[in-house]
Amino acid sequence: MCNLGDELKPIFVVIDGIDGCGKTTQVCKLGNFFSGCNILHRITKEPGGTDVGSVLRSILISKKYNMEPETELLLYSADRIEHQKKVILPNLRDGINIISDRFISSTYAYQIFGRSVDKKILDLLFDVTVLTYPDIIFFIDIDLNTALERARKRLVQNNLIDDEGKFESLSLDFFKRVRDGFLWYAKNYKNVVIIDGERSADEIFEDIKNTVMDILK
Ligand code: ADP
Repeated sequence: MCNLGDELKPIFVVIDGIDGCGKTTQVCKLGNFFSGCNILHRITKEPGGTDVGSVLRSILISKKYNMEPETELLLYSADRIEHQKKVILPNLRDGINIISDRFISSTYAYQIFGRSVDKKILDLLFDVTVLTYPDIIFFIDIDLNTALERARKRLVQNNLIDDEGKFESLSLDFFKRVRDGFLWYAKNYKNVVIIDGERSADEIFEDIKNTVMDILK
């Protein structure tokens, strides 16, 4: 099942897409698969993959704060610097593979396409905040209604609408723009694979696993 050589270069894998598309599910599946193959890995996320990032996350996804879109963009960028310097780069240097729930692709999709922040700002920030580029970014593409229904259901069940539901409360139009943003990113940046998310979690994982194994070999 694993079939890998001894000298593996660690890779940086990102799983991205709109809320409720199945990112967490696939991140866990990939983590379990790596564990089964004795492949060292670290699961992480944006925002919130570090101590400072957790504080930023609680501000960013809470409905309590009415933040300017540019402020939001800068806080996500600050989180990304912390995340790379504290988690991603040190682990890669130690030979540990990274599996991250979201990265820069989300910022183009949500802040530039969703929130209509001037793209020039993020293009500038890209140069100073993306310190290492993912070996592969999976964009799980799925029907927006299905994804949002799942995401909102989870928030309601856990009573987290106010603390974590800022994005899930936005309109379908917002998420249409976000999806366009992910598709735009996939066309314009390297290492992005669009995954058909309208299938079972196992079928989706099969595609992800095959692509990851091809890169690792
Ligand atoms: P995200 O991390 O993108 O918000 P999750 O992985 O948490 O999404 O999935 C949201 C919900 O949808 C969870 O209840 C999960 O069990 C379910 N789910 C995930 N992938 C699928 C799938 N392919 N088909 C059906 N339900 C799924």
